[in-house]
Amino acid sequence: MRASKLKELEKWLLGKRKGLLSGVRAQASNLETAGSGTLDLADQAANAYTKEFLLSLGDADRRLLRQVDSALEKIRLRTFGKCEKCEGEIAVKRLEAVPFAEYCISCQEEEERQ
Ligand SMILES: [Zn+2]
Repeated sequence: MRASKLKELEKWLLGKRKGLLSGVRAQASNLETAGSGTLDLADQAANAYTKEFLLSLGDADRRLLRQVDSALEKIRLRTFGKCEKCEGEIAVKRLEAVPFAEYCISCQEEEERQ
């Protein structure tokens, strides 16, 4: 994947993450200040409030946040775009539609059949 594409997806993920986190009104102001710093700082701030987030987020948001966090982690570890099941490349088109996709399309289909 091109670096510019990766940056673009990372930006989308960070925005999505921020949106999910700011959905929890009580912690929103804390995150605002952390969000402008490095990702690590934002992560530290987020971790400190994880418990509250998990209590106030709905199931769907919670799952999404976990997927977004995991995708950002993979960008840092340079394993982004790799299927978690078969370790094959996830198609860029799929990542553009679902940047936090964990599986390639065939593994995803297999997963949904089960
Ligand atoms: Zn796969």
